[in-house]
Amino acid sequence: MPKATDKKTELLTEAAKCVKCGACRSVCPSLYVLKREPSGPRGRVVLIETNLKGDAEFGKAYLRDIKDCTLCGSCYSNCPKGVNTPELILGARAIEVEQSGLGLLSSLAMKGMSGGFLKDFAMKAASKLQGLFLKATENENGLVGRFSLPLIGGGRLMPKLSGEFFLDGKSAKARTTVSDCGGKKKVAFFAGCGVNYLLPSIGEATVKVLEESGAEVVVPKGQVCCGMPALSAGDLKTAKALQVKNLEVFEKGDYDYIVTSCATCSHALKNVFETTLAPYYDEDPKLKERVERFSAKVRDVTEILKGDVPYERKAGPLRGTVTYHDPCHLRRYQGISEEPRALLADTGLEFVRMPNPCKCCGLGGGVGFSNYELSMKIAKRKADGVRASGAEIISTACPGCIIQLKDALNRYGVEGRVVHVVELL
Ligand code: SF4
Ligand code: SF4
Repeated sequence: MPKATDKKTELLTEAAKCVKCGACRSVCPSLYVLKREPSGPRGRVVLIETNLKGDAEFGKAYLRDIKDCTLCGSCYSNCPKGVNTPELILGARAIEVEQSGLGLLSSLAMKGMSGGFLKDFAMKAASKLQGLFLKATENENGLVGRFSLPLIGGGRLMPKLSGEFFLDGKSAKARTTVSDCGGKKKVAFFAGCGVNYLLPSIGEATVKVLEESGAEVVVPKGQVCCGMPALSAGDLKTAKALQVKNLEVFEKGDYDYIVTSCATCSHALKNVFETTLAPYYDEDPKLKERVERFSAKVRDVTEILKGDVPYERKAGPLRGTVTYHDPCHLRRYQGISEEPRALLADTGLEFVRMPNPCKCCGLGGGVGFSNYELSMKIAKRKADGVRASGAEIISTACPGCIIQLKDALNRYGVEGRVVHVVELL
């Protein structure tokens, strides 16, 4: 086990780099809405540093302030000293969980997440029972709660849970192994929870487009969550268990690439496995090499279709106008922004730019669940941007952003169909 004191020293060293210049403040979505210093990056750095040094007593307000961060990474990109505030916040959340536990609801959620079977069972039960608690909206964009209950209250628009999850569906089951792929590129598809449980049509579209582009697609059995929700909640133990399980599953096949259509998952598989598992490299000498081999194969679907498995459109041009929202985990954490736009250009749709396409949608970092009101206030800027663009179709490359954008458009009365880029190819 890595020592807690090592982590504390690491975080204090990072925090000490901050010169309090405030350059990060203008780009922070939570500060933009809440307009108070502790709700922004500079304030959070000071709070975390003071708390770690034990210089003051902190209570619930401190927890609220570190939980209200969407982990969008804008502060890090904008910091002249390279202070990694999102890492500091994740570290502070993990220390808090280590000291005080997860709380009942989060603890149950994490238990479900770490046991794939338990989560599948819970999601299947939810899919059967959703009609009791949720009803369709008039425009049939999704479902809203019949009662004000945690997670489904406050007018939140939820996607309809499909009767069959992507990983249980025909196309996944028909592609669990590969024997002889005749020289084609072997691509393993990582579904992720958003695609598997909520938006399986994105998984179907991804498999179809990759195969049309000449890849042999495999959907490995036994894959689990990428670990990001657990990590955001400060639950390192669950995140580690999920990541190691995924390593085992994807090591069973000799794949050229591991592809996902979720921006958060591609960031996690490429970058976060390393940061979560590195503290265990000393006690498991083979782990470093395993993580590096795995992460080097990971591609976001928009990246591979404009790179190693190039996509050529065969269908005729589409009509209408489309705009694009940059998921934070794709643009800021992976530097991918041109590829999805180039794929959209291939469709024949007329591209219209929304103002501030790379501003955070407000869902990330667990804020969509821990502070729904804040999450929706952040999303208002996005809905206003879509309205200003006048686009008929709003595309993006992350199932989480799709769910959030649909909710925001519904709430703020903006018309438009929200889809993943691959669904337009
Ligand atoms: S985190 Fe970076 S940008 Fe923000 S106040 Fe500190 S040094 Fe300045
Ligand atoms: S990661 Fe985003 S929300 Fe969090 S402090 Fe930085 S800019 Fe603000």
